[in-house]
Amino acid sequence: MIEQEIDFENRIVSPEYSTHDDDTELSLRPKTLDDYIGQDKAKDNLSIYIKAAKQRNESLDHVLLYGPPGLGKTTLSGIIAREMGVNLRVTSGPAIEKQGDLVAILTSLNEGDVLFIDEIHRLSRNVEEILYPAMEDFSLDIILGKGPSARSIRLDVPHFTLVGATTRSGQLTAPLRDRFGVLLRLELYTPEQLGQIVKRSAGILGIPIDDEGALEIASRSRGTPRIANRLLKRVRDIAEIEFNGTIDVNVAQSALARFEIDELGLDDFDRKMLSAIINHYGGGPVGLDTLAAAVGEEAITIEDVYEPYLMQIGFLTRTPRGRCVTQSAYEHLGIKNNNSQQSLL
Ligand code: ADP
Repeated sequence: MIEQEIDFENRIVSPEYSTHDDDTELSLRPKTLDDYIGQDKAKDNLSIYIKAAKQRNESLDHVLLYGPPGLGKTTLSGIIAREMGVNLRVTSGPAIEKQGDLVAILTSLNEGDVLFIDEIHRLSRNVEEILYPAMEDFSLDIILGKGPSARSIRLDVPHFTLVGATTRSGQLTAPLRDRFGVLLRLELYTPEQLGQIVKRSAGILGIPIDDEGALEIASRSRGTPRIANRLLKRVRDIAEIEFNGTIDVNVAQSALARFEIDELGLDDFDRKMLSAIINHYGGGPVGLDTLAAAVGEEAITIEDVYEPYLMQIGFLTRTPRGRCVTQSAYEHLGIKNNNSQQSLL
């Protein structure tokens, strides 16, 4: 294990929902496709499918949303339900423990409803089996009794739209993935798009902010709206207590420096991970599990949460032999690269 302990629970740039994100997260959720900033490709496709389904008076085909946490998958499922004019039911893969739990949910839906299953890759196999005929034929095969006297009955369920969300589509079983008609990948947002999101959220929360202040927060938010909104709220606290309440570029910079988030949005953990690869593994390649053990974090979290942004800004590459740090990361950390061959990987 390497040096200092990191408090992952309270990590301010964690893209995952935390209990510290209060109810304002709900009020900040865009309610319509027009309010949903960025993700133009996914939005364009969705709006066509929604219009077509409405025109035919049918439920929308099942939708799989995939991409890193905090990018707006839950938000988009709410928008789909609203645009279709139906109810939304929200649950998650780990919450559905038994087949009976899913049967209860499916049989209580109304015609056309949207069922959102977050972390759908974590559904257990036998629960998944119930889902196949439900998605395909809107029916359930239920086995009554045990042994030789067991018999199977078929039960119809309303035509519903399943919206599944996952951080990794590769972890879905093929039969489940194949049953989604619409697959949409959400991308990390650009600083400009996040700047618009920060301004929109500031407007809703009544926080005075100028364009440069918004862009400063945006460019340190790792391409993730949830982080942008969280940083906005924390910067507001500092603006109110130590400045005149308005967030401009100076206020934003001074607050973010205090949170130890650098100008690219990297925090202690990112720097610790990159330095570990450099100092202990000569810049890489290092296998994911070895790296995870070295920095004291789960491999899956490193892959889903930390790496997408570090790869997006070109600090980390994945090679078949493991993770490598790039020359830009050496420069950013101010560490001399004695092994320039590695940095070319
Ligand atoms: P996910 O389900 O992918 O983890 P969420 O849908 O919960 O992400 O989004 C997290 C927060 O980010 C939401 O509260 C919402 O306010 C904000 N958000 C996400 N996407 C957008 C967007 N495109 N425009 C504006 N705000 C967004």
